[in-house]
Amino acid sequence: MPLQPPAIEDPVVLARYPFLPQANPAIKAHMEANEIDLESLVDTDWLDAVRVRARVRLVESVVSKDIDVTTSVDIHTPYGQMVECLSFLYAMVTVCASFDERLLARWAEGEASRADHLWGRIEQIDSFQRLAETYLSDIRMGEDGHWEVPVIDFIEICPKISGSYWRLPNRPLHNGWVTLSPASSENSQERLSRLLKERIRVQLIEECRSRMDLMDEEFAGRMAEEVGRVVSQLQHQASTEVSFTSTDEGDWPPCMQEITTQLTQSVNVNHVGRVFLASMSRVIGLTVDEAQAFFVNAPDYSADTTRYQLTHVFENEYTPAGCPKLQINACCPVSRGDVKSNLCNKEWMDHPLKYLRARQRAKHREEQAAASAPTETDQTPQ
Ligand code: SF4
Repeated sequence: MPLQPPAIEDPVVLARYPFLPQANPAIKAHMEANEIDLESLVDTDWLDAVRVRARVRLVESVVSKDIDVTTSVDIHTPYGQMVECLSFLYAMVTVCASFDERLLARWAEGEASRADHLWGRIEQIDSFQRLAETYLSDIRMGEDGHWEVPVIDFIEICPKISGSYWRLPNRPLHNGWVTLSPASSENSQERLSRLLKERIRVQLIEECRSRMDLMDEEFAGRMAEEVGRVVSQLQHQASTEVSFTSTDEGDWPPCMQEITTQLTQSVNVNHVGRVFLASMSRVIGLTVDEAQAFFVNAPDYSADTTRYQLTHVFENEYTPAGCPKLQINACCPVSRGDVKSNLCNKEWMDHPLKYLRARQRAKHREEQAAASAPTETDQTPQ
């Protein structure tokens, strides 16, 4: 991302997209002009409208992982601009005070998805370009009327997006520029908005994490009631969505365990990781329903799409990827040094299915040894 984003000063634009780095001075100005600080934002009566709007933002992101693109707040008035900007800040502070990674992932996904929807429809090319330039090192319109982005931005962002469209070999590339051609009933601008969504999400998560580091206990305690409300909403949502499989997780290879954990925490697992999990689920005898339960917390989860893709993997009997492919696609925690595993460090280990078989053999031997071990009665002298 550019260190110095392009100037955006239109108060309507800043209220509509308060997550923009350029909106920080506007949020600060609203607070100074109204003599508001973070403490007063929590309990001052006349700021109730701000808190109500923030709760709507949070609940929408938790329940639907998306924030309604329409708002009842009139952002063409100074009051509406203040409510929209401060509600964003209050929602962010609530997320930070929760210290809950799942809530953080859901909220960031909701805010970023909202931008994705809105930006894809912006009619003024100049306005859209300025927003895009906030998140990309450069951008240009190609001769064919399609947006192009530097390959360095594309390869940094695309691993987080599923689908063959986002793989570099499938994109036209000229002199270091990648063309975002229309596809999947989306035009070039909508495709670029999808790319930008990833940078917005990452930027929001990074900002929240640094705020969490700075948050003191006393302030987090003042937010406890607000946090409790939204976290219980999240837990309720998760309990209605997730039904876990009875398979023995202890035998799963670390890569599979990590991918399922990441999905549970709403981390956006890449395409290779998702296909691997789907094919492993089939191989170890899970049903499509059980495999689907792994994905319900994915930030871009859609029940119909997931079922379609899982059915495709199951019906075509996809074989799970081997260790080298998982390693180069950042799906192997052992290759990153995150997990110590004796089995994975063996020279012959080149496939997660070998890990499973080795675990099963070891378990079988342990069970046999336990069965043949002398019991207390056997050892009693006659
Ligand atoms: S070494 Fe293979 S089995 Fe082990 S975690 Fe990595 S990819 Fe999975």
